[in-house]
This record gives sequence, structure tokens and C-alpha cells, in this order.
Amino acid sequence: MSVFSLRDFADHEQVVFVSDDASGLKAIIAVHNSNLGPALGGCRMWPYASEEEAIHDVLRLSRGMTYKSALAGLKLGGGKSVIIGNPRTDKSPALLDAFARALNNLNGRYIAAEDSGTSVADMKYLAERTAHVAGIVDKPTDGGGTRSGDPSPATALGTFVGIKAAVKAQLGRDSLDGVRVAVQGVGNVGFDLAQQLHAAGAKLWVTDIHQDNLSRAEAELGAVVVAPDAIYGQDVDVFAPCALGAVINDQTIPQLKARIVAGASNNQLAEARHGSELMRRGILYAPDYVINAGGIIDVYYERTGFDRAALLAHVEGIYGTLLEIFERASTEQRPTGEVADALAESRFKR
Ligand code: NAD
Repeated sequence: MSVFSLRDFADHEQVVFVSDDASGLKAIIAVHNSNLGPALGGCRMWPYASEEEAIHDVLRLSRGMTYKSALAGLKLGGGKSVIIGNPRTDKSPALLDAFARALNNLNGRYIAAEDSGTSVADMKYLAERTAHVAGIVDKPTDGGGTRSGDPSPATALGTFVGIKAAVKAQLGRDSLDGVRVAVQGVGNVGFDLAQQLHAAGAKLWVTDIHQDNLSRAEAELGAVVVAPDAIYGQDVDVFAPCALGAVINDQTIPQLKARIVAGASNNQLAEARHGSELMRRGILYAPDYVINAGGIIDVYYERTGFDRAALLAHVEGIYGTLLEIFERASTEQRPTGEVADALAESRFKR
């Protein structure tokens, strides 16, 4: 296969293929753009069926990180890495040692963080061998305790203020009191988001594939539990995907009664054309990488000296960024995703 001519290769500065016979490491590290700063992005470990699949994944994801960090106003570029293998059976200290050496060879051009198949514990292990790791610092919580690396609370806060911005723009309301929200996935981010929505007076419909998550949402937040396939067609104001990607597609769009799609999941649109279809139907879409940037903002503050008040203010800035995107999209009659991309490019392209 020819990597340079792949559509996903688009403007990548550097793609490094790493292998280490002794540990079995096979990894790809992609630096999409570093104009604004070092490329930061997750390290995913996954048993990809082919090298092509791994290359597509890492290129697509690293490019996405450039746009996410640029729009979040961070001095970071975009990058991502993938380790080809099964995280349950193939991960070993020797493999992580070899990956740490690869990070050191890049000398800080790429900074790794936790992603699917890797954990905060893995990142802490790497951090003993390289400085080029993020998402590892224990941080204070509201309750006076600490949390380890996990950026989910910041992601949930950003998604919450993003929903408020969408409700303001689409429904003309400053308050979430009585607003009906369907949350798909009440895991780390989704449950925290649901708690904030509940506290703000919103009414909740939730789904998940784990019964304990559902029982908790029902008992603590008075949420109405629905089956996974039924979440799209609920009679609500907001659909908040917080589980999977590609959930906005040809099958689900006709089911949507919500006038807003705003949630934390990555890559919500199956294809870019689905953003145009939402617009055509008068459904306001909060571009995923804008509304879910709380996590990367959290990781950034960890590297610049953790200042909780500044972090929260920065995450809350997602409200203003989204309002600007909604306004421009409405004036220019363009899908919100296109407007977000153009705004990001104006920041990171030289
Ligand atoms: P999580 O695994 O804690 O939660 C996902 C939840 O979705 C789980 O409870 C799972 O049971 C449920 N789920 C899985 N398949 C489902 C299905 N078919 N229908 C309904 N529910 C289903 O993950 P998370 O950290 O909360 O992340 C949620 C989403 O947000 C992911 O797409 C993730 O990529 C994205 N995101 C997370 C962060 C973060 O800081 N954690 C940052 C940016 C983006």
C-alpha cells in the first residue's frame, strides 16, 4: 500500500513505524501537525486485523487531535499512536519499555496519553522511562479527594456547558430546567454528565448495555431507562451520544425527534454528509471534537502546572466556542462541523 497517497495521510508531518523483535512491539506513531506545540494524543492498543487498518486509524485520529486542540485554544499539536496487539494478552513490561524508547527517540515531538487498550497505570509505567507521557497526575476533586489522571470529569463538564450552548442557540433558553435529554451510555462521562443535567433540572432518558449503570441512573437521577435501539427515537430535546462512534447515520437520523445532537462520543457522524443531513432537517449538531475537548484541556493543564480554577474556566470556554460556531453556521448556512474545521484550520495552519 502507498501511505503518502492515502486520503488520511493529508498533511501529516511525520509517521514513525516502530518494531522491537524482543518484546514483539509493533507500533505506529503519527504526528499530524505541530505548529501550535508538541503533538499530544492517546496511545491505543488494539488487535487490528491488518496493518492497513492500524495505519488508517492512527492517521485519522492524529489529524482529529490537531483540530481538537486548536479549537480548544491549547498550545498543542495533534498526534496519536497505535500498538498492534491484544491489550489483554500481548501487553508486557518489555513491550511498554520498547514503546518508551520509541517515545524518547522522538524527543517530545509526540506525547502519549491513555486510550482504548491502555490505562493510566500503563502511562505511569511509561512515565518512569520517558518524560513524554501525559494524563498521569493525581488531581484534586470537588469532594476533597484526588483522582488519578482520568480526564472524564473535565470531559463531562465541557459536554454539559456545550449542551447549554446548544439549548441557548436552538431553543433560545438559558436554563436546562425541564429540558429533555436522552443520554446514550452512562459510563464515566455519561453518568457524570447525567448528574449535572439532573442537578440543572433536566429530565433524563438513558440507555446502556450494563444493567448496573442503568440501575444507578434510575435510582439516583430518576432517569427513564430505555433499550439501546430505542434511544434514538425518544421524544426529547437533546440526544447526547456518550458511548460509541458513528451513531449518526442513515439508519438513526430518520428516527431522531431531538432538535439537538450534543454529546461526548468521538466521531459521532458516520460520514461528513450526515452533518449536512442534520442541518437539512433543522437539527443542531455540536461538533464532537469541540464539545468533548474537556479531557484534552485537563491533560494540558497537568503539563503546565495544575491550576484547578484556570482549568475549569478553560473548559467552560467550550460554551463560547460552540456559540460562535453555531452563529457562523447559521449565517453562512453551512454544517457546524465544516465551520468548526475551518475555524480550527485558521488557527493551526501557517
Ligand atoms: P465508558 O466506557 O466509561 O462509557 C461508555 C458507556 O457506554 C459504558 O457504560 C458502556 O456500557 C456503554 N455502551 C457501550 N455500548 C453501548 C451501546 N451499544 N448502547 C448503549 N450504551 C453502550 O467511556 P467514557 O470514558 O465515558 O467515554 C464515552 C465516550 O466519550 C467515548 O466515545 C469516548 O471516546 C468519548 N470521550 C471520552 C473522553 C474521556 O475523557 N473519557 C474524552 C473525549 C471523548
